[in-house]
Amino acid sequence: MAPSPDHEPVLTASNLHKTYRGGLLSRGGAVRAVAGVDLELYPGETLGIVGESGCGKSTLARMLVGLERPDEGEVAFRGRPFFGRGLSGGGVPRDIRRRVQMVFQDPLTSLNPRMTVHDIVAEPLRVHRLARDARAMRDRVGELLELVGLSPDRMHRFPHEFSGGQRQRVGIARALATEPDVIVCDEPVSALDMSVQAQVVNLFAELQRTLGVALVFIAHDLAVVRHVSHRVGVMYLGRVAEMGPAAGVYGAPAHPYTMALLSAAPVPKPRLRGRSRIMLAGDPPSPVAPPPGCRFHTRCWKATDRCSEVEPALEAVGDHYAACHYAERPPERTPSPERTT
Ligand code: ADP
Ligand code: MG
Repeated sequence: MAPSPDHEPVLTASNLHKTYRGGLLSRGGAVRAVAGVDLELYPGETLGIVGESGCGKSTLARMLVGLERPDEGEVAFRGRPFFGRGLSGGGVPRDIRRRVQMVFQDPLTSLNPRMTVHDIVAEPLRVHRLARDARAMRDRVGELLELVGLSPDRMHRFPHEFSGGQRQRVGIARALATEPDVIVCDEPVSALDMSVQAQVVNLFAELQRTLGVALVFIAHDLAVVRHVSHRVGVMYLGRVAEMGPAAGVYGAPAHPYTMALLSAAPVPKPRLRGRSRIMLAGDPPSPVAPPPGCRFHTRCWKATDRCSEVEPALEAVGDHYAACHYAERPPERTPSPERTT
């Protein structure tokens, strides 16, 4: 199912901010992990989120599922804020938690090694009281394992008895157990061997087609999300640099940072072919002290004085959005020749 503007978003994030204070790496400063992110996720779509390590992807993911509370801004499920006023204890309501699930980066650390696969997948069923009795629970766990391509015969084994790819399938089965409308997948294939990554990405694509679940699919590499995403958002130092339909972002990137990321990707799009390769110099600046103005200006070959002074807003460029004073316009259609008569 492709995203449709006729639908109401299933998940909405508005102006999300998260700052960490006193972290080990911050040397006493405040780490601005997420600094003003807006996004909408539509029913049944996949929104890819990419960006270099440290740009705030995991922090955003945790806020999107309610594991972390934003300092500012809010996340809403079908229009209902996660941390609404008057909610006792400030927790996310149980029915929202049920519908918004997460798959973590490393299945080795996110699956309890002392629990069998049955108990791992059954846990959300227990928490949300979704199985009548032990037998119904076992049947449902078997069904979920089959759904992710694992044999139910192995449900009484432990995570270490599975390969990395199979362990991540267990993590996916656990996320699917509560019949979520949204799954936020935080670099779900980054810890896997290259040869296994494509299989797990394909599984996500297939699950999405058959179940209609909306996915936020996070990766540090544009190539990974290319084939599964309807839309793609590119993050840089806690903010969205560019967001739009995958075809637009890959085919006609507007933001210099997206161009640089694509240029570093193994298979450049035709429009980029022949262009000189753009090298991203150095590491991203520290999120403790993001550069003033456009946070990408210190690494940007297009930057002028304006870029170090004025922060560009995310603005429409063709059919997508980019936060750049010198955003590349998509190629104009050739106008039909003027008539002389
Ligand atoms: P990504 O997932 O894109 O690599 P993260 O969201 O994990 O980015 O981290 C963004 C920034 O926030 C990094 O500088 C990281 O060191 C910092 N950070 C993340 N989590 C914490 C935390 N719990 N305490 C302190 N700093 C954190
Ligand atoms: Mg991360």
